[in-house]
Amino acid sequence: MDTEVLIVGGGLSGLYAAYRLAQQDVEFQLLEARDRLGGRICGAAYPGDARPALYDLGPAWVWPDFQPRIARLIRELDLSVFEQFLHGDMLHEQAAGDLVTRSSGPSPMRGSYRVSGGTQALVTALTERLPANHVRLSSPLHRLRQRDGRIEAHRGDGSAAAVVASRVLLALPPRLIAGTMAFEPPLPEALRRELVSAPTWMAGHAKIVALYDRPFWREQGLSGEAFSRRGPMTEIHDASPVHGGPFALFGFVGHAPGARRSIGEAALLSTALAQLQRLFGAPAATPLATFVKDWARDPYTATELDLAPLGHHPEYGPPQQAIGSWSGQLHLAGSEFAAAHGGYLEGALEAVDGILQTLRGIPGQGEDRIPGR
Ligand SMILES: Cc1cc2nc3c(=O)[nH]c(=O)nc-3n(C[C@H](O)[C@H](O)[C@H](O)COP(=O)(O)OP(=O)(O)OC[C@H]3O[C@@H](n4cnc5c(N)ncnc54)[C@H](O)[C@@H]3O)c2cc1C
Repeated sequence: MDTEVLIVGGGLSGLYAAYRLAQQDVEFQLLEARDRLGGRICGAAYPGDARPALYDLGPAWVWPDFQPRIARLIRELDLSVFEQFLHGDMLHEQAAGDLVTRSSGPSPMRGSYRVSGGTQALVTALTERLPANHVRLSSPLHRLRQRDGRIEAHRGDGSAAAVVASRVLLALPPRLIAGTMAFEPPLPEALRRELVSAPTWMAGHAKIVALYDRPFWREQGLSGEAFSRRGPMTEIHDASPVHGGPFALFGFVGHAPGARRSIGEAALLSTALAQLQRLFGAPAATPLATFVKDWARDPYTATELDLAPLGHHPEYGPPQQAIGSWSGQLHLAGSEFAAAHGGYLEGALEAVDGILQTLRGIPGQGEDRIPGR
């Protein structure tokens, strides 16, 4: 297959790039390794519910007040947001014993919004707007080779080139680029080291979601928000849909990836439900459904290096090191390549916008033609 722009990766950055290129009538192909689109955006549906996947196993929040791109994209895609449910008291669980205290102070989550229908709605809306036959799932690419002024992209299993393109946009976390893709000729060593040093945001985390027929915490004047030193979940929030149920609570698991692996998913879930019961009462012990998503075990998100806990939000941004002979043909576009909002959904859009500004020489593309700028 021959194309103008090959997009590798169908997370938010890859899908947004495809959407903008399609608006500009630029020929592209998007190849995604997994059998689904969205990358770190991943929604779960209540079993048997005809509605789409409402429960966020990856990103849940946007901050439209200071994230202009995601705010604009949500409007453009006819989606809507609603405020994170914060009505009622928060709970604080101490490290030892059964001491749980209640507080009514301002929540640290003020100003956080959720996308109606879950962040998966962004993926669905973008995908629906792409031309037919331009996206291929279950198509991991692992080798890029420069040949006769163009780039051949291979699956890495020795088979013939899957795609030949004039330019390649790698919409991937930097560590996956450095750790899972081979380049002929190789990327400059200084750039490779820079890519390895950029942690994939939230890749070491795991989320547990529990669904209930009633929002029993709200009935007790609780917001569902809880902060725990005891665990296994360190932070818990209301994850219910904007309207109706099933209602939901979700928590970030405090154990490091290695500890989670030794505990095992079933034991982890059972201690998480015991914690919800300690905090919110007996109804928490019998959810309608539960979901556990351990991102650290997902090879299309996390590398071994991402198993070490992050103490702070890393400094992200476009590559500082030269890209060598790949200059002008290879573009790095995942969220971690954004300077202002790196690691976040907003960053995925920021990184792509930055690249589209530089994509001159593609018919119909250029700074003055990027919509909405
Ligand atoms: C648990 C969790 C909670 C989060 N919470 C928030 C939040 O509340 N708000 C927020 O703004 N952000 C949050 N984030 C971060 C947010 O999810 C990311 O910033 C965003 O989704 C990154 O999008 P991306 O397209 O750059 O990368 P990704 O979503 O990682 O997409 C990369 C894509 O490339 C594919 N791929 C990988 N290797 C290959 C290959 N070799 N060939 C082809 N395809 C490949 C992957 O399958 C994936 O689809 C959270 C992340 C996690 C994990």
